[in-house]
Amino acid sequence: MPYKNIEDYSETVTQGVKDRYKEIIESLGEDTQREGLLKTPERAAKAMQFLTQGYEQDPVEILTSAMFKESYNEMVIVKDIELYSLCEHHILPFFGKVHIAYIPNGYIVGLSKLPRIVDVFARRLQVQERLTEQILDCINDTLKPQGVAVVIEASHMCMMMRGVQKQNSITTTSGFRGQFEKIETRNEFLKLIGK
Ligand SMILES: [Zn+2]
Repeated sequence: MPYKNIEDYSETVTQGVKDRYKEIIESLGEDTQREGLLKTPERAAKAMQFLTQGYEQDPVEILTSAMFKESYNEMVIVKDIELYSLCEHHILPFFGKVHIAYIPNGYIVGLSKLPRIVDVFARRLQVQERLTEQILDCINDTLKPQGVAVVIEASHMCMMMRGVQKQNSITTTSGFRGQFEKIETRNEFLKLIGK
């Protein structure tokens, strides 16, 4: 199913994750019977299921559900797509912006589908590098455009709140396929997204 109503939490998963969270909170020295924490394990279990719902979604199905035959063959850019994901090394958020461009090859895709597939891949345990590649490959393999480009700029809480505690560093990753491997096409895209 491309669209899952995330209020349908699995009872088994919720119960399992909730019990583990209770143990984790207690291991960290807190009292899970304290009023403010009574429902926290369950809320956290549901929040984590929401943040990892991408495992159950099919990005190819999302794209193919809105592909239209069209002769337009100039660059299509969707920039500043909001990104929220979880780093798989620390299970802490990383967040920022995704910029996507493609040059159609007979087919265009409904523009809202590009942010949708960003979410499908972002709502999993991720590293920014793989997220970039997965978005790129999914568009390239499904839409088969003349070219596709993806740039991600993100801040990582695991760097900002712990470790090196660098509050203002932004990590940029990018990937280019087809026409965007040509320097002038790539530069035009980077200029249009303000890079
Ligand atoms: Zn991390």
